[in-house]
Amino acid sequence: MNLKDIGEFGLIARLAENCIFNKKEILVGIGDDTAVLPLDQDYHLLVSCDMLIEKMHFLREVSSPFQIGYKSVAVNFSDIAAMGGWPTSILVSIGIPKSISFEYIDEIYKGMKNICKKYSVNIIGGDTVASPDGIVINVTVLGKVEKNNLHLRSHAKVDDVVFTTGTLGNSAAGLQIIKNIQNHLDIDIPSKIKDFLLQKHLSPEPCLNEIRILNKIELGLNALNDISDGLASEAWEIANASQIGIELYKDRIPISEETQILGQLLKTSPLDWALYGGEDFQLIGTIDKIHFPIFSKEYKRENGTDLFEIGRTINYPGVFLVHNEEKVYLNKSGFNHFD
Ligand code: ADP
Ligand code: MG
Repeated sequence: MNLKDIGEFGLIARLAENCIFNKKEILVGIGDDTAVLPLDQDYHLLVSCDMLIEKMHFLREVSSPFQIGYKSVAVNFSDIAAMGGWPTSILVSIGIPKSISFEYIDEIYKGMKNICKKYSVNIIGGDTVASPDGIVINVTVLGKVEKNNLHLRSHAKVDDVVFTTGTLGNSAAGLQIIKNIQNHLDIDIPSKIKDFLLQKHLSPEPCLNEIRILNKIELGLNALNDISDGLASEAWEIANASQIGIELYKDRIPISEETQILGQLLKTSPLDWALYGGEDFQLIGTIDKIHFPIFSKEYKRENGTDLFEIGRTINYPGVFLVHNEEKVYLNKSGFNHFD
């Protein structure tokens, strides 16, 4: 079978069959943002890895080596946040073409160390090899989560409020700016907007401060996921894992002013960037309907930003975009590595 036919998600589903040979040592395996392993009386251990490949995830002519290092760690911290946890250590495996200078790798590590210092995380090991073509960076992250703060994709209940922690589509908008520059499409974009969107794409921030606040409030918080592959794809993951459906309110999906302005300039729908773009690394989650008003008020008080109500969970399968009387079935789409 061709990989293009089965797709990234189909391939992982096939690989995930028959992987557990020692049930005592595992709580959650393949299928969530991280694996969950037993640790001690109060905490579970979280483990995950994410790989960035040159030309697929970053371009050396666009990202600085500092940004490459920063992002390679940020995407891993995002998966820990998506479980309700906090990162504690990382291991870094790196494949380097012989033509790359020591100074370049040093800058990548400066980016990694910068974000690790910011969130008090240790770099504890890794592996270094030569790569025949392009830089490869794989970061493995370890973290821990208080047992009652563990939030799986499968924890959504019917009649929950679906929320997100921030504006969506910024990263895809930033990527579009990069593509336009590469294609010599000379569109005059105000530099403030350009800088904001490029920053969102090239140096994303994991929602670790946000998860601290969500955990503190707790009160009815059910499922959580990070938005790495686009809102539609992540909503599908929660819906499938929880065996429920989700309605997303079309006019309540938060889109920044910068992304809206770029959409107008490029005559592109910013909603498509939010739904299918990915790499925003905001959190999407569900909260019991009765607790949401107090929850969102507390969140705003603590974080200074809104917890955006973007939809609700329903008792039949599917993810839908609703607007007034209109209800459209949303494909999972999102980014698929073998498309
Ligand atoms: P996310 O949705 O957080 O971006 P992925 O889509 O990368 O995560 O992966 C989905 C799930 O599949 C995760 O639990 C991940 O650990 C697992 N997974 C991905 N690739 C493999 C693989 N090659 N072998 C085993 N498990 C994998
Ligand atoms: Mg994830």
